[in-house]
Amino acid sequence: MSTFKAPKGTYDLIPPQSAQYLAVREAIAAPLRNSGYGYIETPGFENVELFARGVGESTDIVTKEMYAFETKGGDRLALRPEGTASVLRAALEANLHKAGNLPVKLWYSGSYYRYERPQKGRYRHFSQVGAEAIGAEDPALDAELIILADQAYRSLGLRQFRILLNSLGDAECRPVYRAALQDFLRGLDLDEDTLRRAEINPLRVLDDKRESVQKQLTGAPLLRDYLCDACKAYHEEVRELITAAGVAFEDDPKLVRGLDYYTRTTFEFVHDGLGSQSAVGGGGRYDGLSEMIGGPALPSVGWALGVDRTVLALEAEGVELDLPSTTSVFAVPLGEEARRVLFAKVTELRKVGVAADFSYGGKGLKAAMKAANRSGARYALVLGERDLAEGQVQVKDMESGEQTAVGLNEVVAELESRL
Ligand code: ATP
Ligand code: MG
Repeated sequence: MSTFKAPKGTYDLIPPQSAQYLAVREAIAAPLRNSGYGYIETPGFENVELFARGVGESTDIVTKEMYAFETKGGDRLALRPEGTASVLRAALEANLHKAGNLPVKLWYSGSYYRYERPQKGRYRHFSQVGAEAIGAEDPALDAELIILADQAYRSLGLRQFRILLNSLGDAECRPVYRAALQDFLRGLDLDEDTLRRAEINPLRVLDDKRESVQKQLTGAPLLRDYLCDACKAYHEEVRELITAAGVAFEDDPKLVRGLDYYTRTTFEFVHDGLGSQSAVGGGGRYDGLSEMIGGPALPSVGWALGVDRTVLALEAEGVELDLPSTTSVFAVPLGEEARRVLFAKVTELRKVGVAADFSYGGKGLKAAMKAANRSGARYALVLGERDLAEGQVQVKDMESGEQTAVGLNEVVAELESRL
């Protein structure tokens, strides 16, 4: 063991478990790729100001959780704590919104960083797969994203997740609600920090996870009762579209999210097997974000699903992903000449697209066959001196144990057809 360990709040993805992570990323991405979302990749760090403005000065993410630093050149940067602000920044910078094809639909996958108190399901480095649909105000787009997330979780075999849905109103109705909520909060017995929060961003108090706070919020005014007609109609349409798609959801009138930019449709995916870190994903509409970071008005909607917590949710439900073995053929040479000949065959197999691996390090037959077993290969190729002299190789079916001799010149085509 080296003297170094992974930094606090982080962990490494290591085979074989790492295959689960890849499969989860893939399962979340597949419905997006299938629905017109193009892949986008942005840097792991951005100008700190982007997040301060885009995520919100009063959010925990910006005030407590951000890894902000100054470079030797004096730039103020931050490791990205989330994806939306960066993706929108990149789309604006590349003028994607001017290409006359709105909405711009993008998906991404990557690492995010938040300085949080590490616990199960809460890490300082974690992974998200996300999607953003930029530049259109259409309830079908909100519905599409919710349906695609549902499809992603279901394709993984998850069942114990729930979709919580709310509307946060817009620039017309939210200020009225905000004032009413503020009035209500001022009358509560809250600590100084929370009272300050109530002045800056009262909606976020609704998201306070402490029991002592939640108890006092029982009679709080609800946004639902303050929505303007346009927001009400929009929300009703989103609800109808996802209902028609057969996607179950729960109305959660207190649902707000930890980022300032959300408007109208807001949703969260929670899993009941995860204890307190129950959110496996979340998202919503952010009609004002583009203007907040200096762009034109571009009503948009998106989500981000946490890969780490999705893997934990799979474990909690006891779902075993059916991951086919990555190696199909494992080659076992016995002797120097066999090694050269078989290595060439492995290269040939790989060229024609057969996943093949090789017994390295001059192992004996027994150790090599153990390695073949461990690789999960369907076939082992064993080449001894006698086979070599006869121009053939033993093809062992690792499932049935059956072994047949195949000509060395024919073996690649033979395996190709058998697989
Ligand atoms: P929470 O309320 O649990 O802090 P959040 O609202 O901060 O979550 P989002 O910013 O909406 O989370 O991020 C979307 C998803 O990313 C979350 O639902 C979760 O699955 C995942 N996620 C967020 N923060 C972490 C973290 N520190 N460690 C692991 N996964 C995380
Ligand atoms: Mg958080």
